[in-house]
Amino acid sequence: MDRPRYEAEMTAGRMKAMVLAEIGRPLRLEERVLPEPGPGEIRVRIEACAVCRTDLHVVDGDLPRPKLPLIPGHEIVGVVDRLGSAVGSFAPGERVGIPWLGHTCGRCSYCASGRENLCDEPIFTGYTRDGGFAEYAVADAAYAFSLARYADPVAAAPLMCAGLIGWRSLVAAGEAGAIGLYGFGAAAHIIAQVCRWQGRAVYAFTRPGDEEAQAFARSLGAVWAGGSDEDPPTRLDAAILFAPVGALVPTALRHLRKGGRVVCGGIHMSDIPSFPYRILWEERQIVSVANLTRQDAVDFLAIAPQAGVTTATVRYPLEAANEALADLRAGRLQGAAVLCPSGAFAS
Ligand SMILES: [Zn+2]
Ligand SMILES: [Zn+2]
Repeated sequence: MDRPRYEAEMTAGRMKAMVLAEIGRPLRLEERVLPEPGPGEIRVRIEACAVCRTDLHVVDGDLPRPKLPLIPGHEIVGVVDRLGSAVGSFAPGERVGIPWLGHTCGRCSYCASGRENLCDEPIFTGYTRDGGFAEYAVADAAYAFSLARYADPVAAAPLMCAGLIGWRSLVAAGEAGAIGLYGFGAAAHIIAQVCRWQGRAVYAFTRPGDEEAQAFARSLGAVWAGGSDEDPPTRLDAAILFAPVGALVPTALRHLRKGGRVVCGGIHMSDIPSFPYRILWEERQIVSVANLTRQDAVDFLAIAPQAGVTTATVRYPLEAANEALADLRAGRLQGAAVLCPSGAFAS
């Protein structure tokens, strides 16, 4: 490479990123050298990255051994900017989504049995590899998804985790006709719309007294909305807990019909208080959902447009990642926070 071109690329080849240097500290704006995609990888110019509750758990140290320093963020939507060697699946300029599941080993008993979400040696975007609170990210092409059908990158970003994990939780809930959603944030507001499309009745539980969130839930098709301290008007076939509050497990169990199921959709939850066996008896179940498989993403990204899913988003400039995290922590958001690099704002 000749010298002027080399120098031009060196000055152009930098990006802004919000970096977690130490657990419990605010993210710090840094300028970094653009990452280069390795074999099988793509580099993406980020248009939008939604903020997930899991990002809070990473920043707070609720999850063990994050990569440090770390660029968080795992609900990435962007445009393919450079291909590593041996990438046949994408072309430069194509819009893609990059979710939490960044890589799996392909060899362990879980990978071999269609449960790559439980892989023994996984890599997670924005946790054990750098994520999307930046202008660019590199991802394993085999774990990225075409978003050619999605015209609005900001609207699509919350689908990449709130949507995908919400979808996996909904599948885990089974054939439930009457379904309770506990915690009406980013995931529930997407899944409520899928439930309505599937003909299920949604009962939405919010923080006690949060009438705004309850009105929001009703506007998205919930047949009933109330505080988590209230009883629904009917017994539920299943309940999905998106709020990271262990005390809601016995609460939800008490609302279930015989044979009903409580699905815990979060990656982390406060301790579950002890409860009498009789509220679990009669074949009620408590299950958890972990991560996602690539098939979950294929299924959900096909269904979301059919179901007419729309997302409520609040945009923040990339540099305001700490404010977005604070607003999520305080429950000030209706829908999902989405970080947009300044270049993406203009488009
Ligand atoms: Zn594996
Ligand atoms: Zn997430």
